[in-house]
Amino acid sequence: MKRLFGSFILSPSERGAKAYAALVLALVFMLGGCVPLSRKQVKKELFAMDTFISLSAYGEGADEGLEAVSEEIERLDGLLSATDAESELYKLNASESGPFSVSGETFGLIREALGISEKLGGAIELSIRPVLLAWGFTTGEYRIPSEEELEELLKLVDDGRIELDESNLTVTMPDGMQLDLGAVAKGYACDRAAETLEEAGVSSYLLDLGASTVMARGTKPDGGKWRIALRDPEGEGYAGVIETDGAVVSTSGGTERYFTGEDGEIYWHIIDPATGLPAKNGLVSVTVITENALWGDALSTALFVMGIDKTEEYYKAEGGFEYVMITEDGRLLLSPGAEAVFTPLGRFAEGGTEG
Ligand code: AMP
Ligand code: MG
Repeated sequence: MKRLFGSFILSPSERGAKAYAALVLALVFMLGGCVPLSRKQVKKELFAMDTFISLSAYGEGADEGLEAVSEEIERLDGLLSATDAESELYKLNASESGPFSVSGETFGLIREALGISEKLGGAIELSIRPVLLAWGFTTGEYRIPSEEELEELLKLVDDGRIELDESNLTVTMPDGMQLDLGAVAKGYACDRAAETLEEAGVSSYLLDLGASTVMARGTKPDGGKWRIALRDPEGEGYAGVIETDGAVVSTSGGTERYFTGEDGEIYWHIIDPATGLPAKNGLVSVTVITENALWGDALSTALFVMGIDKTEEYYKAEGGFEYVMITEDGRLLLSPGAEAVFTPLGRFAEGGTEG
C-alpha cells in the first residue's frame, strides 16, 4: 500500500490537519464555481473534535449563524470527547459501576447510537474503547496487543449489556466497559450544526467536519449543485467528486489514522468487534450518501467493518443510502444511485468503474 499522505495523519497536529483540510476545501470551493456578490460566502474555520472544521454559509444571517455553529461544535466537543477529562463521556467511562447520571443530550445520543449499533448487527460497538486503548489509537502510543489480551478485552465489548434508564437519565455499564463515540460524534455534531443554521434562518451552507463528514444543504448562490471531492485514500489526489443538491457525504477509511507495525503491516483505527483486529474486509474506504449525518457517520464506519459483500447485501436489503467503495485491490464500486452523482477522478477516471 502506498502511504503518500500518511505523515500528517500519523501525527495529527493542528498544523498538519489544517494544511490537509485547506487542500480539501480548496478543491471543494474551486469546484464550487463563482459566487455572486449579492450572496457572499461567509466562512468560519475551527479546530475541534480532533479535526480541522470548515464551515461556509450564504445569505442573510450567515455570519451570526456560523458563529453559533462554532460555539455549538465546541460545546459538543466538550461533552463527547473520550479523552478530555472534563467531558461527560470521560466521566461516564471513569465512573464506578452502577447507574451514572448524564445530561439529556448525552443520554439521547447514546440511546440513538446504541439503536443504530443494534440495527447494524455488531459491526459497530460503542463499547469498543478498551480495544482501541490497547492498540494505542486514542493516545498515538501504538502497539500490537496479543491474541490473549484481545480475547480478554473483547469480553468487555458488548453494547447489548449497556442499560439505559430513560426516566432517571442514567447509563449503567458492566465493570471495565468504556464507550467511544468516535464513530458517530462528528455526524451528530453536523446534524446539530445544520439545525443551528436553520434556526438562524440560513438555508444554504456547506459544513466540512474534517472531510469525513461533509454536509451540503440548500441551493448554491449560482443555482448549481454542490460538488464534494473525495480523497483517494491511497494517493495524493482525489478519487472523484459527488454532485448533490443537498446530502451528507460520510467517509470511513483505514488510512485516516493508522500505524505501520515492525512486521511492515498496516494497522488502522477501525476495529472489527468480532476479532479486536483492524477491520480488513477488502476496503480501504467507504463513503455513504445519506440525509442524516449521524446515520451516515455510523453507517460508513459499520460498512467499513462489514466489507464489500456485506455492504452490497445490506444496500439491497435496506437501501436508503448510496455508497462509494474503494477496495484494497484498487477497484471503485458504486451503488446505482451513487453512479448517477459521482464523477471519478485520478486513477479511477482512467480505469473505469464497476457497479
Ligand atoms: P469513523 O471515522 O467515523 O469511521 O470512526 C472511526 C472511529 O470510531 C475510530 O477512530 C474509533 O474511535 C471508533 N471505532 C473504531 N472501530 C469501531 C467500531 N467497530 N465500532 C465503533 N466505533 C469504532
Ligand atoms: Mg463514522
